[in-house]
Order: sequence, then C-alpha cells, then structure tokens
Amino acid sequence: MKLFQTTFNPRFIPTIRDWAQKTNLHGNSAIIHIYAPYTDKSIYYKLDRIQKILNIELPGVPIVGCSAIGEIINGSIDYNECVITLTVFDDTSTQVKVLSFYDLNKDFSQVFFDIIKEIPDLKGLEIVCANSDVMFDKASHTADSLPDNIEVFGAIAVGDDDNKPFIFTDDNDYHTEGVFLVLYSGKELHIQTNRMFGWKAIGYPLHVTRAEGNVVYELDGKPAYDVYSHYLNIKKGPNFFYDALEFPWEVQVNEETVYIRHAKSVNPDGSIVMSTNVPVGSNIRLTYGDPLRIMEHTKQAGQLIRDFAPQAITIYNCFGRKLFWGEQDNIEIVEISKHMDAAGFSALGEIMRFKGKTILNNLSIVTASMREGEKQELDHIEEVSNMASSSMPITARLAVFINTITEELMEKNNQLNDMLYKASHDALTDLLNRGAIERLIYETDNSKDWFLIMFDIDNFKNINDTYGHIEGDNALKNIANYIKEKIICNEGIECGRWGGEEFIMIISDRSSEYVKTNAEEMIKKVNNLLGIDYELTISAGATMHQKNETVLQTITRVDELLYKAKNNGKNQLCSDL
Ligand code: GH3
Ligand code: MG
Ligand code: MG
Repeated sequence: MKLFQTTFNPRFIPTIRDWAQKTNLHGNSAIIHIYAPYTDKSIYYKLDRIQKILNIELPGVPIVGCSAIGEIINGSIDYNECVITLTVFDDTSTQVKVLSFYDLNKDFSQVFFDIIKEIPDLKGLEIVCANSDVMFDKASHTADSLPDNIEVFGAIAVGDDDNKPFIFTDDNDYHTEGVFLVLYSGKELHIQTNRMFGWKAIGYPLHVTRAEGNVVYELDGKPAYDVYSHYLNIKKGPNFFYDALEFPWEVQVNEETVYIRHAKSVNPDGSIVMSTNVPVGSNIRLTYGDPLRIMEHTKQAGQLIRDFAPQAITIYNCFGRKLFWGEQDNIEIVEISKHMDAAGFSALGEIMRFKGKTILNNLSIVTASMREGEKQELDHIEEVSNMASSSMPITARLAVFINTITEELMEKNNQLNDMLYKASHDALTDLLNRGAIERLIYETDNSKDWFLIMFDIDNFKNINDTYGHIEGDNALKNIANYIKEKIICNEGIECGRWGGEEFIMIISDRSSEYVKTNAEEMIKKVNNLLGIDYELTISAGATMHQKNETVLQTITRVDELLYKAKNNGKNQLCSDL
C-alpha cells in the first residue's frame, strides 16, 4: 500500500494526475481523505473545487473528509491549507467501504451489521464524527459489538460556535451532524492502533458525584472547581483554560476504561465545563503534564509503531495537546513520523478501541498504522539518546515527589480502611461483628421507631454433628449471604453476628407490620436456601424499642422472645408487635 499526500496548492491538478499515473486503481482499493481547516472563510468553495478535480482525475475513488485544525502532512503540521491524502492498497483482497449516517434519531447498527456480514476479513473501522455526542455514542456502541480483533480509530471534527464542525463523503454535502465510517478489510491487511498520553497522576482519586454530559458539578460532594482552587490555586477568569491545561484529569470509568479530560471553563456555580463527557460514578485524579515525560511516552509509542513496520500512518492529534505544546506543537508529530510518512489532523477528540471498548480520548494522540503483507525492514534511523534524568526540570521532579507521596498515603489509607473493616466485621460471615452491631444499636436515632429481630439457627449442634463443622460454617455463610443480598441492602436495616449461630437485626423507620412480615418471610426463605440440602431452620424474636426504656431492656426482651420461639417448637417467629 502507499500513502500520497498534498495540500491544495497551485500544483494540485498535476500532482493528482501524477498520483493517478503511478497507481493501478482497482475496485474499492483506494480512499481519499480531506482534512479542511475550519477557519478558512472560503472552505466550502475550495472543497467543491477539490472534489470536482478528484472526481475527474481519480474517478470512483471514495472521498471522505472533515473540518479540522492543524492538518498533518508529511509528518508536520500545516496551518492553512486543506490536506488531501490518497491511500492505495496493492492486494486485490483489500477493500474499503464508506458508510455515512446523518440522522441523529435513527439507529444504524442494524444497517451496519447487515453490511459487514458481507465483508470478509474486516480489519479496521475508522469513525469520524461531526461534533455530536449522540453520533459518537451510536457509533461507539455499534463498534463495541465487533469482534475484539477489529481495530477502531478516528476522531471528532473541529469547529467552533461560528464555524460548526462538519464531515462529508461522496455526496458533496457538508453535514454538521453525523458520522462517516470507513471499513477496511483484506486478507493481507494489518492495522495497529496506538494511543499516547504521558500525563502523570499526582492527586488523590476523587469521586464524580454529580455531572451531566461534559459539565462536572461535584467531586466528592463538593463543587468541582475546588480541586483547582484548593490544590493548585488556579483562579477563575480568562487564564483558567491555559492554567488548567497543564493539570488535566485522568478519568477512571472502570478497570478497563481510562482517559484524559481537560477543563475548558468554570461556571459561576463552581461547576467545570470539561473537554468531553465525564460520567457520574467515575474516579478522577489530577495529572501533571511534564513535557519531557510526555515526549518519552510518545517515543515509546513511536517504537511500537516502528516495530509494526507500517506502510502508512494516520495521526489524530488532540487540539488541546497542540495548544499545550504551544510553539513546539510539531515536536511529537515529527517524532512519530520519522518512522514512516504520516498524515492526519488535530481533532476535538481522538477515538480508539481499547480492550474491546471504543473510547473518546482528549489530550491524546491516536495513530492508526496500516500495512499489507509481511513486515518489511524500515530504513534505519539514528536514535538520539533518551533525555538524561539529570536534565529533568525541578517542576517535573516535584511532580514525581508529589505523586510518590500521594501513592504512599493512598496505600496507607487503603491499609487503614482494610483494618477498620476487619475490626468491625465478622470474618466468617462478613456481617458486622458483635461490637459493631452493638455500637450501632446503642447509637440509633431514638426520634424514629426502631425494632430488633434476633434469630438463631435451630438444632445447629446436630447439623455440626451430622454433617461436620465445615458444613456448619457453610450454613452460616449461606444465611449471611441471603441477608446481605436481600435484606440489609435496604436502607435503615443492619444485621450483625451476635454470637455463634445467633444474629441480631436492627430496623429503623418502618412499621410493626413491615417488621413482622419480613421476619416471617426470612424464616420461610431460610427453609429453602440454595446450596443446603438438609433441613435448616431458624427461630426469631421481634420487638420494638419503647421510648421510655433503655437499649439493654429492648435487647433483653427480644432475647426472651427468641427463647419463647424455641420453646414453642422452633422454626417460628415470636413477636410482641
Ligand atoms: P437450638 O435450636 O436450641 O438453638 O439448638 P442449637 O443446637 O442450635 O444450639 P446450641 O447453642 O446447643 O449449639 C450451638 C452450636 O453452634 C454449638 C457450636 O458448636 C456451634 N457453633 C457456634 N459457632 C459456630 C461456627 O462458627 N461454626 C460452626 N460450624 N458451628 C458453630
Ligand atoms: Mg441454635
Ligand atoms: Mg445459639
């Protein structure tokens, strides 16, 4: 395969003719990408011209394109002109298919899967969205259902309030909402995607407690802006964007999904507008952008790209990352493209599939490397030695220092939490232990009605004697699991292990009727516990705390009621409710 690239310049037509002569186009074995600077006032006029020329000189080759900024050509960022690339595949089995969807209200996954059923050897899916959350969600959900070995990559087109981001395909229309998908398939086609971050986490994890789309209202229940004011003394106001850009967030959605988001602005209520969505329930950590470390990360990723021996690379560079580098914004692009010519653009979000999940990244570089056939040795390049650690700036050293301390404190904190948990929980059943449940009962809010249920396994001694101690333990765990899954998950209900096979439950702010019904229900359920194939029953007492009595009096009464249930023949509730 081969990647041709040019800007839209006065020699455009001869350049395209030259491409046409050099290549032997067959079927759907080529594709044209156009990256259009969104700030160019005559961009639509130019794009019309470019597409007309391409249709004449390279008939039948599909065209896709989008609005962009900082177009990448020949491994360097161009600022003014449209970049046009032609990717030509050599192997007859390699095919390219373009799909586009513009209707936000329509689901397209069925259409998509009907089409890919007919495509053998699908290897990659390129997704480019006009700036539309809805379309990215649709496209990423669809992509997530693809087999794991299919690479997914792409980006979000660039624009602003005055010049909306747009995408286009062969239909010659510019769409400010929608997505185009390019399917790459072929027996000999290999695709590798890489993602470059380099940001270093320095803060404690904070929980996103309130957020909507890309507006984060609260972290750990406090206004989100606090993290910038409290830890970094970054002021609201016009410099906020640039000050905060050096300290973006690492967002951990779950074990697999981690991405970077950066703050764009602060609202008067202390909420922060982030670069893209930050889901409620995720954990964020402040990170620090150290240029040396970021470059190191990029070099490592560059090495992975080199090992793949690509014949073409597409780079999706983040617009925010470009701003972060300021005047040096070419530095990473040059680093990556020294291995192989690359084209691409700076985007408002970089798409890559990671462990089966398609993720929208910010402040990253995503690359899609392609190759047909076996690896061919790349030209040797002189490796400049890695930057010596003694050249680390003091800020970078401090970031390492802070990070190390934070990690150590977090480790200690985890150990402490672990110890606190063990000190209050029973090891066998994982319910509260006697001390913890007793404290809880004594500290219960007396302004609301509260009840105690005490229960005890019937003839447990026999169970131990007949089936052995291990089976006895198993019965205790089974009962505890049932209580955890079905009962104490309800608010205002807690349960602890009172003694050997005796448990106590406290229920707050409920009616007597509720408590009685639930105690009876529990006795019935224990009779039929899964995993127990002998008769297992419990007896229980239930009572309500009276306003004029001590807690000890309530406990004594429920104990007596349990004793009565045992005397009355077991497997029953005795209550004074
Ligand atoms: P009742 O119906 O009157 O409650 O009779 P019971 O046999 O259940 O009561 P008893 O108090 O006579 O015996 C309780 C038994 O529970 C004795 C003890 O060995 C056993 N036990 C206590 N803790 C554990 C435990 O952690 N694991 C096991 N397997 N048995 C335990
Ligand atoms: Mg017993
Ligand atoms: Mg007992």
